[in-house]
Amino acid sequence: MATQRILDFLATRRPSGPCLIVDLEVVRDNFNAFRRALPDSKIYYAVKANPAPEILRLLASMGSSFDTASVAEIEMAMDAGAPAERISYGNTIKKERDIARAFELGIRLFAVDCVEEVEKVARAAPGSRVFCRVLTDGAGAEWPLSRKFGCVPALAVDVLRQAKTLGLDAYGVSFHVGSQQTDLDAWDRALSDARQVFDALAAEGIMLRMVNMGGGFPTRYLRDVPAAEAYGEAIFGALSRHFGNRIPETIIEPGRGMVGNAGVIKSEVVLISKKADNDNVRWVYLDIGKFGGLAETMDEAIRYPLITPRDGDETAPCVLAGPTCDSADVMYEKTPYPLPVTLTIGDEVLIEGTGAYTTTYSSVAFNGFEPLRSYVI
Ligand SMILES: *Cc1c(COP(=O)(O)O)cnc(C)c1O
Repeated sequence: MATQRILDFLATRRPSGPCLIVDLEVVRDNFNAFRRALPDSKIYYAVKANPAPEILRLLASMGSSFDTASVAEIEMAMDAGAPAERISYGNTIKKERDIARAFELGIRLFAVDCVEEVEKVARAAPGSRVFCRVLTDGAGAEWPLSRKFGCVPALAVDVLRQAKTLGLDAYGVSFHVGSQQTDLDAWDRALSDARQVFDALAAEGIMLRMVNMGGGFPTRYLRDVPAAEAYGEAIFGALSRHFGNRIPETIIEPGRGMVGNAGVIKSEVVLISKKADNDNVRWVYLDIGKFGGLAETMDEAIRYPLITPRDGDETAPCVLAGPTCDSADVMYEKTPYPLPVTLTIGDEVLIEGTGAYTTTYSSVAFNGFEPLRSYVI
């Protein structure tokens, strides 16, 4: 959200062009809220949400661990001060030479979701701990992660058995309930699947020890979302229901929930026009769009709160679009966005809740627009 520190920064520094400003104090508060809400879980920040070095350094200094998806992300976490023991290679899709490089760097915790990937890890990172990702349906999530990652629980049993056979440490099960998940029961369904995998392998003498409960913790956009405590209670309840008094080690991997509300994008109205004299919907073009960092407006999935200097004036529905020459660069059209009728070309528009999945999604120079600049304060 637009904190006083962010507003002061914008007022004094007056950065030109679209940019993201991240307030580290909000990140610190979010980390503490997760720690309080789930005191027994280790926190692995999902680096892809926002890998700004200042954010990684702050979290490393607070004792966070890191979920990474590539060698480059592993190196970013290490440069920020995280030791290898606090880094997981959580991508289920890895080149064998990248696994080998991670192993060289000291990484010993890897995600898998099929036997083929287990074989790579066994060759390139012998003896490491592996966890197998199980599919979730993503119901209730505003940015579901579909069927790309994970396997059904029955297959996870085979995958982890094969890991053991190949000399790896069959450590546990992971899932991701879908990003921006506002249904507190989503973790319950996934933990029930995890328990099935634990039981099936225990019957063969393979004792799993860890459940990685992934990310999914939401940021407040236009609608209220449950607070971290509510997630903590729901998850602890589900763990107790499915694992009784033998709750395994647990990990959470917040990305959006750690940084989303810490960032605000400053943008500017480039053009306001109509397609016909009798159109009742205006087109408002900003100097940032889908290719400049607002990729999560795809299918109008994430609807960001906007602040304009004319808030309080009468509003009318607008189509909101970006500045590039690509017709896909339209953020909100199916559900137009109400904006003040007095909004004028040149007005500054603040886009809230943009601390996660913006800089990392911005293109390098599409149409000559530079990647989204960011200031971490
Ligand atoms: C992206 C990702 C996360 C973070 O998800 P959020 O919904 O942003 O919290 C966590 N774990 C894995 C494996 C991911 O790919």
